[in-house]
Amino acid sequence: MVSKEDIQIKPGKLFINGKWVDSVSGKTFDVLNPATEEVLTSVAEGDKADIDLAVSAARKAFEKGPWKKMDARERGKILLKIMELIEKNKDELALLETMDNGKPISETTNADLPLVIDCLLYYAGWADKIHGETIPVRGEYFNYTTREPVGVVGQIVPWNFPLLMAAWKIAPALACGNTVVFKPAEQTPLTVLRLGEICQEAGLPDGVLNIVPGYGPTAGAALAEHMDVDKIAFTGENATGQIIMRAASKNLKRISLELGGKSPNIVFADSDIDSAVAGAMTGIFFNQGEVCCAGSRLFIEKSIHDEFVEKLSDKTAGMRVGDPVDADTQMGAQVSKEQFDKILGYIDAGKQEGAKLVTGGERCGERGYFIKPTIFDAVDNNMKIAREEIFGPVVSTISFDDIDEMVRQSNLSIFGLAAAVWTKDIKKAHRLARDLKAGTIWINTYNAFDAASPFGGFKQSGFGRELGVHALELYTQVKSVWINLGS
Ligand code: ADP
Repeated sequence: MVSKEDIQIKPGKLFINGKWVDSVSGKTFDVLNPATEEVLTSVAEGDKADIDLAVSAARKAFEKGPWKKMDARERGKILLKIMELIEKNKDELALLETMDNGKPISETTNADLPLVIDCLLYYAGWADKIHGETIPVRGEYFNYTTREPVGVVGQIVPWNFPLLMAAWKIAPALACGNTVVFKPAEQTPLTVLRLGEICQEAGLPDGVLNIVPGYGPTAGAALAEHMDVDKIAFTGENATGQIIMRAASKNLKRISLELGGKSPNIVFADSDIDSAVAGAMTGIFFNQGEVCCAGSRLFIEKSIHDEFVEKLSDKTAGMRVGDPVDADTQMGAQVSKEQFDKILGYIDAGKQEGAKLVTGGERCGERGYFIKPTIFDAVDNNMKIAREEIFGPVVSTISFDDIDEMVRQSNLSIFGLAAAVWTKDIKKAHRLARDLKAGTIWINTYNAFDAASPFGGFKQSGFGRELGVHALELYTQVKSVWINLGS
């Protein structure tokens, strides 16, 4: 086991063209541990000038470097090497993520890191299997297609799964032969900077991956509007997604957006109640509720409502919230003071709107951004806490007795990222899988993920699918070639 004392967190730099450099402005910003409110280190603050340098390095690496021309299988081998080095350093990376983000070590060890490794392995395997088609066109022609990389890709991610979001974006982009300029969230740049070192060690050519930590309206905006970036992939808030879409329109970049959610988690009376209680908790309290697909609206069939809420509240009140580095901790700290205040604001709004606070509803301890896991009962689907994404450990329960009305309410959201259904009735399960408007449907489970299965949103939860074969669509473009076989 790696302990806190074993980790030496050095000041972070920008990773541009294979070199670790200061920002052009010389500015830096502090990165905090949200569990202790202490400064972990300072990191070079990238800005427009640094994004310009990173984009030109990525362009040069794309047009002239070995990456695009290299045998696809060799690219796959480098991705595999990156995977192996992540695996070798997984305890250190898990702890670094926990210290930077505030999430429990049990989650970084058992969820984040295994999923990161899985993602690298999966896309390493794709590198040499991306190919075109031959098409039986009319006339004396031979027609075929090729699938080519898009070019220089800009990627902007949030702070809730810093390394995992990096893997979801960087692995498919590189497997397809693109070069990347990556901007981590300003709250959590540390693990992706470590990934930069790992990529170097694995032999990734200079300029193929560039990492520019910095703030959204400066570094992020410069990347989104850059005229020499061919594609932008973004995960984050809806309002930021709209800004990015506008910025990307300047040179009509391809874009893919993975935005917010207000996912319904639906429990029927004929479900296995104990599993559904556990699923309701995973759905909302995993990662302190800082999950875009969190099951934040819990629809419970009326006949089991009281029993279910009682069981849920007993278990929730007994959750171990505290030091994220402690292996027994179940819920850690919210990522920042800003997020902490925002969640407490939503809790106040819930109380004011007349929802019934069952448990939680306040901060936990005096130091660090901890919030008690919170359940609001008797929530109306029109209340603010049921409509807006809280991104915290706050669940709203809504009881139902009519399936059609419940489905209507479930779908009555601007979002459509995920939904879950708990029932033993196979017909009901499939019917709801058909009728719920969401990019992911979980039946008798929650938060199941695999690098091979696509993830993304319906409606305002975004567009484009990450993971699986679908991500290859995001990072390639098709060329159609015609050859005249006639005279
Ligand atoms: P949050 O407010 O919860 O941090 P955001 O969607 O604002 O969520 O942040 C996700 C990512 O988007 C972060 O890396 C952030 O720096 C970046 N970002 C924020 N604002 C902008 C912007 N105007 N242009 C580009 N990126 C941005």
